[in-house]
Amino acid sequence: MREFTARNPRTGVHDWLGQALDPAEVGDVAARLRAGQATWESRGAASRLEVLRAFGQALRRHAEPIGQALEFDTGRRRIARLEIDSVIGSIEGWARIIAADTPPEWIQGRGLPSVRHTAAWKAYPLVGVVSPWNFPLLLGMIDAVPALLAGCAVLLKPSEVTPRFIAPVMAAVAEVPDLAAVLAIVAGDGVTGQALVDVADCICFTGSVATGRKVAVQAAGRLIPAYLELGGKDPLIVMEGADLEAATDAALRGSVLSTGQACQSIERIYVARPIHDAFLGRLVQKAEAARLNWPDIAAGEIGPIIFDRQADTLSAQIADAKAKGASVLTGGEIQTHGGGRWLRPTVLAGVTSDMAVMRDETFGPILPVVGFDTVEEAVALANDGEYGLSAAVFAATIEEAEAVGRRLEAGAISLNDAALTSIFYEAAKQGFKASGLGPSRMGEDGYRRFLRRQALIANTARPLLLVAFSEEGST
Ligand code: NAD
Repeated sequence: MREFTARNPRTGVHDWLGQALDPAEVGDVAARLRAGQATWESRGAASRLEVLRAFGQALRRHAEPIGQALEFDTGRRRIARLEIDSVIGSIEGWARIIAADTPPEWIQGRGLPSVRHTAAWKAYPLVGVVSPWNFPLLLGMIDAVPALLAGCAVLLKPSEVTPRFIAPVMAAVAEVPDLAAVLAIVAGDGVTGQALVDVADCICFTGSVATGRKVAVQAAGRLIPAYLELGGKDPLIVMEGADLEAATDAALRGSVLSTGQACQSIERIYVARPIHDAFLGRLVQKAEAARLNWPDIAAGEIGPIIFDRQADTLSAQIADAKAKGASVLTGGEIQTHGGGRWLRPTVLAGVTSDMAVMRDETFGPILPVVGFDTVEEAVALANDGEYGLSAAVFAATIEEAEAVGRRLEAGAISLNDAALTSIFYEAAKQGFKASGLGPSRMGEDGYRRFLRRQALIANTARPLLLVAFSEEGST
């Protein structure tokens, strides 16, 4: 074990001390979970679902301490409670998907009529989940719940930046002994995360592109699948006929919800030239009306920047944009209140593609706005860059937005809204380009990706003789 501390984002004080698991300890936990997995898998999906439902009830009973811990981890209250609700609600979402699953049948062979075959699905015994700090509970459980339902054991390591929720969630797990045998949430840093990749049979990673690359390389060395959900630089295109009120509402919410600390945040806004100035004016007005959740955590929409270093990144992107000629229309300064760091919604105009704020992930409430003249230009600008997580298009009609959206290189396209994947979880999607790797984590694939397909092939006739393949007499 190695000691580490966590900083409270509202006070800036490192007021939490914990232990990061070392690789040998990760190995011990993995061995314990593996020992419980075969029984877990053999009890069947319906029985596992009942255990997960019991876990949902345990989370509900422990909602107060879990919510408190998440509040200290993230500096926000309502979103912390929404994380808990969302995890509990997801169990019924997966239940519906599993209910639609039909048992495989025997299929008569076409090439060899005496042979028939069927499928069996075998769980990966141990799934490792490594998650980031922006939604500490949600983004760990988003992979853990379907993996458990599929019959896997799960070893989850959340971010070292937000570790407080682990203890109260594990207290809820302990009340469901059948689950405690196959689910462990452990504290730790990158070293612990690497150790997880070394012991798992399949790894789910949510985090930055830089770490995702390392995880992919390590997983490739072990020949295990790595499902990666990485960063984004999501564009919003606003066409000339768009409803300005609706488009500016969506742009603001899509960019600054959760203080922009969301992978699917809108980080670049391209607006048709004839409405550019009106759009910008209205966006600035709305951005100025957003309030910090300081000093009262139960007020306002903008929380503190959770990860201290992220505040430096935001500051550097704003400085770089200003140095290269951008103007700050509102916001623009990191504010310190009570030791925590906040950034008011920051609208930038006069931005160009060579600025860091237009190329690198921002992960904060910054809205750079650029005008465009033709739809070709807008599509090319939106598709520029290494990311392809999601995107959004606003137009006079859904059909017009759809026509533009279909040309975008991103895994999820919001039409006449923005960042819909933050509130709607049913659509299957993949991360394009550097934003991800592997099947969709939503929809049927989100469950199926934890199962390996096995073929059972039966011959009802006598086995073929070797001489049937003899070279004798071949011409
Ligand atoms: P990060 O990559 O710094 O860390 C993520 C996790 O990886 C942490 O738990 C960390 O301890 C662990 N880790 C670090 N080094 C490791 C290694 N070598 N091997 C294994 N694990 C290691 O990311 P972050 O700063 O915590 O999170 C923010 C990033 O996450 C942003 O880029 C954001 O876009 C992305 N994200 C993506 C999604 C998505 O669904 N696509 C969702 C949320 C966040």
